[in-house]
Amino acid sequence: MKDLLCDQFQNTVSEMMLCHRSILDVLAKVQESGARVQRSVVQSVTSCGCQKINANKKSIPEDATLVDLKSLLDSHLSGELCSHCRENIETEIGRSLFYMTALCNLLDLNLYDIFIKEHKQLEILRGYTLT
Ligand SMILES: [Zn+2]
Repeated sequence: MKDLLCDQFQNTVSEMMLCHRSILDVLAKVQESGARVQRSVVQSVTSCGCQKINANKKSIPEDATLVDLKSLLDSHLSGELCSHCRENIETEIGRSLFYMTALCNLLDLNLYDIFIKEHKQLEILRGYTLT
């Protein structure tokens, strides 16, 4: 059973892809939209300031287990996204999803199948990291 929302999104993207039908255009847009996601996150730190990045080298004990790593390693982020930055980042991630889905369409790949495949891989990996 396919996920209806995923398939509807993929169909809508297909209908909207009038201007960018070339694989070259879509590949360029995938890269550009990914860079815009990163830029919007950086702007939440450097322009707005609602988030801060505090990164340094972590010292990890030699006997640390995978479970220990979860508490030893962090995101290096502090603060909370303001509504403006949240909106910007969500918009850029949405555009990025649009072009990734457009890439799926051109390559005749099903987005939902990719979600399922990736989710299964993550579940296998989780099984190893929690033991
Ligand atoms: Zn902000």
